[in-house]
Amino acid sequence: MNLQDSKIKSVSNREAAKSTAPDGRFHLAISEELITQCMHCGLCLSVCPTYALTGLERSSPRGRIRLMKSVMDGTIPVTGTFEYEMNFCLDCQACQTACPAGVKYGELVEAAREYIQVNKKGFKLKRLLLKNFFMGRSGLRAVATVLRFYQKIGLEKVVIFLSRIVPIGILKRARLLPQLSDKFAIDVLPEMVEPKSAERGKVAVLTGCVMDAMFAEANLDTVDVLRENGWRVAVPHEQVCCGSVNGHAGDNETARTLAMKNIEVFENTGAQYYVVNSAGCSAFMKEYDKLLADNPEYSERAKRFSTRVKEFSEFIHETGYRKPKAKFGSTVTYHEACHLVHTQKISAQPREIVKDLAGDNYRELNEATWCCGSAGIYNVVHYDEAAKLLDRKLDNINKCGAHTVITGNPGCLAQIAAGAKNDGMDMDVIHLATALNRLYKTEK
Ligand code: SF4
Ligand code: SF4
Repeated sequence: MNLQDSKIKSVSNREAAKSTAPDGRFHLAISEELITQCMHCGLCLSVCPTYALTGLERSSPRGRIRLMKSVMDGTIPVTGTFEYEMNFCLDCQACQTACPAGVKYGELVEAAREYIQVNKKGFKLKRLLLKNFFMGRSGLRAVATVLRFYQKIGLEKVVIFLSRIVPIGILKRARLLPQLSDKFAIDVLPEMVEPKSAERGKVAVLTGCVMDAMFAEANLDTVDVLRENGWRVAVPHEQVCCGSVNGHAGDNETARTLAMKNIEVFENTGAQYYVVNSAGCSAFMKEYDKLLADNPEYSERAKRFSTRVKEFSEFIHETGYRKPKAKFGSTVTYHEACHLVHTQKISAQPREIVKDLAGDNYRELNEATWCCGSAGIYNVVHYDEAAKLLDRKLDNINKCGAHTVITGNPGCLAQIAAGAKNDGMDMDVIHLATALNRLYKTEK
C-alpha cells in the first residue's frame, strides 16, 4: 500500500456519488469549459511535485482534472479520493505554467475545495480554526504571544530535542516554527511614514498576518526601502488578513468578508498603489475582483483595488529603485515562490534585482521554481510529503553553494529556514526587501 492509499478511504461508486451530490452534478463555481480545456497531453506531469512524490496519475494535474470531471458527471462522490487529492495538491500552479492549452488549474482546484467545504457534512474543525484565527488580529496575537514565550523560556529547545527521539505528530511539526519576531511591525510603525528622498507619491503596505508575526523585520525593511526610494508609506492599522489562507482552504465566505474590509481600509489611505511583500497575499489580492464579482456593492471597487495591488519586487522594478553601491559579500541565490512565479508570472524582476545585489556572488538555483513544501498550511497538514519537498530544495541549495537564500513569501522563508536549522546548515534565508535594505544600511 503506498503513501496515499493508506490515507484514502475506499473509492466510490455511482450510488455514493449520488448521495453526496443529490442532483448528480458537480456544480463548480466555474464553467465546464475550463475542465474540458484540458487535452490530456501530460506535459504538466513532469513539473508536478505531488506526482513526483507518488507516481500516481490521480496525484497529477491531469488526473485531478479527470477526477473533477468524474464528480461533475456524478460517477464518483465528493468524499474519499476526490477530497483527498484536491487537498493533497499544493496549489503551487506549476502545472499552469507548463500547460500549452492554458488550463487555469488554480481556479479549478480552488473551486473544487470550496465545493468540498460547502458540501461536507459534520463538524468542520479546520474551517472553524482558520476562520477564527485569521478573521481578527486577536487570535493571531494570542498565539504569537504564547509562542514567543515558549521560545523565550527555552521550552522550544526541549520540544525539538524530544522530537528527535520521538518524531511524531505535533513534536515533528514543532520544528517548522521559525524564530518569531519580538513585535509586530504594525505595532511599531505609525499609520503614515514620510519618504526619505524627493517624494514620488503615496503607497500603502499590507503587513499581513503570518509575515508580521514571523518576519516583522521584512515588513520594516519593505517600508524603509520604499521610503528610501521617495515613497510616502501608509500602514493602515485597521487592515486585516488578505483572506488567502481561508480562500485556498475552500472558505471563500470568510475570504470575502476580509477582502471587503481591506478594500474599505486601503481606499481610505488615498494611496496610488498597494504594495504587498508576500507572494501568496499579493496573488490573492490581485484577484479580489473575481472573489467579489457577484457583489453589487463591491464588484467595481474590487476591480479598482486589484489593479492597484503590486507585489514588492514587481513594484520597485517597475517604478525604479536606487541601486546600492555595495554588493553582498557572500554567495547568494534566489528561490522562486510558487505564487510569485506561477500565479503572478513574476520571475525576471526579482531575479534581476537579486543578481544586481549579489554581483559576482550570485548562484543560480537548480529547480528554483519547484515548491519548497510550505504551501500555506500544507507543511503542517501533510508534514511528511512537505519534508520530502524541503529536502529536495535544501539539496539544490547545497549544490549551488549559496550562503544567503533570498525569496519573497513568508511560507518559503519559514520552511527553508526551518529546514536549514534542523540540518545544521549555515544559511541565511531572507526577504528581498531585507537584502536590499541591508545594503542601503551599509552606506549610512
Ligand atoms: S498540460 Fe494542460 S492540457 Fe496537458 S494534461 Fe496538463 S492540464 Fe491538461
Ligand atoms: S498545483 Fe502543483 S501540486 Fe497541484 S497539480 Fe498542479 S503542479 Fe501538481
